[in-house]
Amino acid sequence: MGSEVTDETNGWQEAWEAAENGAVAVMDCHEEIPCNPCQEACPNGAIRVEPHVCALPRLDPGACNGCGRCVALCPGMAVFLLDRRERNGFARVTVPYEMGGKPVEGDVVQVVDGEGKALTEGKILKVRAWGGEAPTLLLTVRVPEEVALKVRGVRYRLIELDEGLEVENAPPLLDYPICRCEDVSLQNVRETLRSGVRSLLTLRRATRVGLGYCQGLFCQSSLREELAAAAGREAWKMGSFRVRPPVRPVKLGRLGGENA
Ligand code: SF4
Ligand code: SF4
Repeated sequence: MGSEVTDETNGWQEAWEAAENGAVAVMDCHEEIPCNPCQEACPNGAIRVEPHVCALPRLDPGACNGCGRCVALCPGMAVFLLDRRERNGFARVTVPYEMGGKPVEGDVVQVVDGEGKALTEGKILKVRAWGGEAPTLLLTVRVPEEVALKVRGVRYRLIELDEGLEVENAPPLLDYPICRCEDVSLQNVRETLRSGVRSLLTLRRATRVGLGYCQGLFCQSSLREELAAAAGREAWKMGSFRVRPPVRPVKLGRLGGENA
């Protein structure tokens, strides 16, 4: 296998082998949360979330035909497709894409891992759209096989600044990540608002803003402004995210002001 498999129980070994014959889903879901759209999405019953809704999804690669429905419908972007049928050192990876830009077949893009770090360049072989007004795109990218299991997304430069362009003369930024933890763009938020969303909670469910490590600390006020503009109301009336406990354990001493 070209990439390290970190969790032997998640079926990657089977998926890796099955991918020699064509596209197959790879589950990258590690959070035991109440969630099962992937199971509901699969027309072949290839994904099971059992024995309860908080269990990790399990894939039967033999029942998967690589249709990509689960990739498009997983709200956590925790599924991708792997296709190794070329058998020449390259693999095809299909990932969901919900950022700005208009990816087209033939584009050469940077492919990134789950932390947004660039892995290599890849050529987009196929673009498919799922959903209505603000569809999720499924991008199939051809990459060297050794990085195939690490690929979680692609990156576009949205604005190419001319070399030497003075900053004050630069064109206004049309798009930028409004939620850096979950990599949700301003345009993505605005498109979701145009679909009729009018509360922070629904916006969070639809786009994952505020679900990252900072839990909305940095994006919340900007999101309130966007919501208020869309709803024609004052920002302070748009509510707040529910305060949740830290996602990582914190020693009591640190809360008391210790630096260690
Ligand atoms: S790619 Fe299609 S067939 Fe395979 S698990 Fe996902 S939904 Fe099911
Ligand atoms: S839909 Fe996505 S996040 Fe939810 S259980 Fe399935 S793979 Fe995990």
